[in-house]
Amino acid sequence: MKQTPSLDGIEKATLLTRDQHPISRKQISPNALKVLYKLRDAGYHGYLVGGGVRDLLLGKTPKDFDIATNASPEELKQLFRNSRIIGRRFKIVHLRFGREIIEATTFRAPHDANNQISDNTPRKRIQGDSAHSAAGMILRDNVYGNIDEDALRRDFTINALYYTIDNFVVLDFCTGIEDINAKLIRIIGNPEDRYKEDPVRMLRALRFCAKLDFTMEENTSKPINKLAHLLESISSARLFDETIKLLTGGHAVKTFALLRQYEPGKYLFAPTLEALGSIENEDKDKPANKLVNLALRNTDIRLAEGKSVTPAFLFAALLWPVLQIRLSANQDPDINQHQHFQNAVSIVLSEQIQYTAVPKRFTSATKEIWELQLRLERRNRRSIEGAIAHPRFRAAYDFPTTTRRFWGKP
Ligand code: ATP
Ligand code: MG
Repeated sequence: MKQTPSLDGIEKATLLTRDQHPISRKQISPNALKVLYKLRDAGYHGYLVGGGVRDLLLGKTPKDFDIATNASPEELKQLFRNSRIIGRRFKIVHLRFGREIIEATTFRAPHDANNQISDNTPRKRIQGDSAHSAAGMILRDNVYGNIDEDALRRDFTINALYYTIDNFVVLDFCTGIEDINAKLIRIIGNPEDRYKEDPVRMLRALRFCAKLDFTMEENTSKPINKLAHLLESISSARLFDETIKLLTGGHAVKTFALLRQYEPGKYLFAPTLEALGSIENEDKDKPANKLVNLALRNTDIRLAEGKSVTPAFLFAALLWPVLQIRLSANQDPDINQHQHFQNAVSIVLSEQIQYTAVPKRFTSATKEIWELQLRLERRNRRSIEGAIAHPRFRAAYDFPTTTRRFWGKP
């Protein structure tokens, strides 16, 4: 066992000793603990950070465990055979233990905001391994630093708490503990700058509000509507990933209500939000609105029961009102009903993937759910038998069971 040198920056933390916090090792994934002990044995420092610490402090079961360390991605790769470096913009090491993945990141240092590049600057001109766009967006974030610097590079104070297996202490470098107690989502640093660095933080703020039942601290929420347009510069692939996190965290009803209230929602679901109308004076009896609300509720219930939810189902429900509007548009007299439906489906889906790059396997399934929907709607014996034999039947069936009574045009 190597002698571990002390860690620079650690003296800046406020400590919660073992008797001052409720986290016990029994609640931590054995694999995450294994990683922490292995890092220590190899002479590195490893901490549990992010959602794992936050959720345990709140008495919730964490979704996953993230680790921050002073080992570089390459050193992690050498130490753990089951590891893979992912991401270029922000390198993360995935440590795989069967079905569980532990994410390990190396402590990040602050950026030199003057290190600007345009999006098409050749890689060789990037200095160090960090880069900002002229608009302040972080294009690369692979400059490593001390733990106190790492804490301030994180998004919200409640996500910047560190747990160590050395005396089982929790370390707080900002106001994480205070904000957990006050149930506040507070962005670290200057809110506008931090949203400009990474506009997805605006979506994360809304997600944590819904998931934790917290409120946004005033300065954290103030710039969100004004800066929502920055989400246009985020790839539709990343926005799809974020959308799935937003809707499959078990709080889809609440999260979607926030997406309807705040501008960032428009950068994920403009067609749906337009079809639903404003949430303030929503006609809850309108079939399209009823269907969406029931589908979201059904999603939360399924997840609470430990069942899975497919993105195909979510998009089938959320885009149903948009599809209905398309279908009610005048039909070209030269095409038949079936073609009219097919055209509407492909317009609605291709419009949505401009916002969130829904992978083809899900859009084809969404389409099948809609097609089966029509078949079930017709309710003639032959087509129902055909539908039951279809592999997508379960998803299609789940779609109307909660909502069957509310079908119809908006
Ligand atoms: P959960 O896993 O429950 O959804 P989480 O807070 O663990 O929530 P992750 O996406 O797993 O979220 O990220 C782990 C940690 O990495 C966060 O808690 C935060 O400290 C940091 N982080 C993640 N995304 C960002 C970001 N866009 N900007 C700054 N820090 C981030
Ligand atoms: Mg996490």
